[in-house]
Formats: sequence, C-alpha cells, structure tokens
Amino acid sequence: MQHTEQPFSEKLLAWFHQHGRKDLPWQQDKTPYRVWVSEIMLQQTQVKTVIPYYQKFMTSFPTIEALAKANTDDVLHHWTGLGYYARARNLHKAAQKIMDDNNGNFPTDLQSVMALPGIGRSTAGAILSIACGQSISILDGNVKRVLSRFFAVSGWPGNRAVEQQLWEYADALTPKKDTGIYTQAMMDLGATLCTRSKPSCDDCPVQNQCLAFAQGTQSEFPGKKPKKVIPTKSTVMILPMWQQQVLIYKRPSSGIWGGLFGFFEAQQLSDVQAISQRLQLGAYNEQKLEPFRHTFSHFHLDIQPILLELKKPPTGQVSENETLWYDLRSPPNVGLAAPTTKLFSTLSANL
Ligand code: SF4
Repeated sequence: MQHTEQPFSEKLLAWFHQHGRKDLPWQQDKTPYRVWVSEIMLQQTQVKTVIPYYQKFMTSFPTIEALAKANTDDVLHHWTGLGYYARARNLHKAAQKIMDDNNGNFPTDLQSVMALPGIGRSTAGAILSIACGQSISILDGNVKRVLSRFFAVSGWPGNRAVEQQLWEYADALTPKKDTGIYTQAMMDLGATLCTRSKPSCDDCPVQNQCLAFAQGTQSEFPGKKPKKVIPTKSTVMILPMWQQQVLIYKRPSSGIWGGLFGFFEAQQLSDVQAISQRLQLGAYNEQKLEPFRHTFSHFHLDIQPILLELKKPPTGQVSENETLWYDLRSPPNVGLAAPTTKLFSTLSANL
C-alpha cells in the first residue's frame, strides 16, 4: 500500500492547535493595526519583553488615528527601553500616511502595505495573513532558522541568494487556507522548538522530514554571518545638574538616537568647559562618573559621563537646540536613549 506523507502545513497546524501559544495580547481581536504594532515590536525583541510595552502602547494609541495624531515625543516615550527607535518613528509616520492616503484604513494589498515606512515583505505577509486571512508567506528570523534546517540550506540568510532560496521554500510550504494560523504556527515553532541553540527536535511535528535532523547538523544551520570587527568610538556625556534637574536636548530626527532626548556631548574632557560656557551654566563642581560601553550593531561607543553640579540656578539655554531640564523626581514623557536612561538611574539612586 502506498504511504502518502501528510503535508508540512497540516502537521504544523495540528501541532499548533495542541501546543501553540494562543493567548498573547496581539492574538486577541486580530485587526491589521494590532498585528502590525506587535510585528514591529517583536522584531529583534522577545515576546516576554514586548508584552508590557505592547499593552501600554495599545492603551495609549488604540487606533491608527490616535497614533497618527500623537506627538512624536510621546510615541518615542512609549518605546523607551525597547531600542531600535527607527521602528517607532516609522510606525508613527506610516500611521500618518494611512490617514492621509487611505482615510485611516489599513491597506489590504501586499504592495501598498510594503510601501509603508518600516514594513518589509515578511512583516506585510504576517499582517495580511494573520489579520486578513490572505495566503501570503513570511520569512522572519524564526522562519529562516526553521527552513534552513528543514531543507539544509547552507549559507548566511542575509545573503541575497540564500534569502531568495528560503523565500521559494516558504512560498511552496504556505497553504492556501488557514494561512493566518499557519503563520503563527511557523513563528511559534521557531520560537519554542526550533530554537537557536539546542532545538527540541524530539517534540517537533516535522522532524521525520527535516534534513538537518536526519544528518545531525542542526547547529550548522542557519549559516553564520561573516565576522567583521566593529570599530570603537568614544564620547564624553555632559550632565549639568541643578537640584534634581538635569539638562538634556532633543537630538536631530535622523542619525543615532534620532528624535530622542540625550545629553550634550564633547569629543574629549578638555572640550567640556567650552560647552558649559556655550550653555551658560555658570560655576559648577565637576565629577567624573563611572565610564561604560554601549554597543550598537555597527560600533562600540565608550562613554565617559561627567557630572556638572551647578552652584547657582542656570541662567540661560542654547537657542539652536530644543533643551529640557529633566526632573528626575517627576520625569516628563519624552523618549530617551538607553545610556540616558542608565545615567538617570545612577543619578536618581544618589538623590
Ligand atoms: Fe528544527 Fe529539529 Fe524540527 Fe528540524 S526537527 S525543524 S531542526 S526542531
């Protein structure tokens, strides 16, 4: 008797019905907007970290219209601590574009969704399959890992040819119906069983067809990114403080920490005095704080913070920057870069 293998998608769906996560906040009331926000937050960030941010964000900005009308500082404030702030700026811009171009209705064709700021092919596929039931495949980091193991695809998935090959496999496996559930099941398989290290192959619903499992080569897939040494830069962060208030300014909207509030910086300690004069800080006591390193994807930044404790109330501000005396005891709602938050915690602990 001929044995017919059950299709990949059927095995996966059966597994998901029994073991998948179905109570995540964005899995309830699955509108394109709610799924979109979750997909953006989940990029490079784990589910358990995202949940409280997601809930707060949706309470403050329950609709595309509410997000579009929000002040950028408030949106960035809701993102403080999640990192990769371009995601928040793009979300905000895209909401405004949807209001302008589409009267607040999220578009439902792939090309229009991909034309929105910050939405690539995989994210667009996830939104349209999960929230609209369209049969469109996805290829996020989890799915890349599953497919490169399942089909034993060599090479780094960031490489165009490798990625193209993975898209072809993703398209071939994606079913015509129940695609939204299939999409979530693929994400779940990658996040809970086919994990980066020590995948739980014994519990995997597609183990008997997985090439990496058959060869015992799971740890070789996906291929590693070619190593490159990242450079180190250094900066001095200047923390002028009067009572419990610290001077920060709004950074330009493009570039690192774009649109977030941060400290004035100097290239070296000997420049601090000139900057303090420009800021009209008056007399102060200077104290070097513990230096630390912040690492971006493309460079390390060695930070030397320097506290300037003002002897008298500050007299002036620098007109070309949007400045703010940040009150540590009653913090305003503005977006802050990770090192700024860290230094505020240090200062607050000593108040
Ligand atoms: Fe991943 Fe193991 Fe399943 Fe293959 S058998 S897809 S390596 S969990």
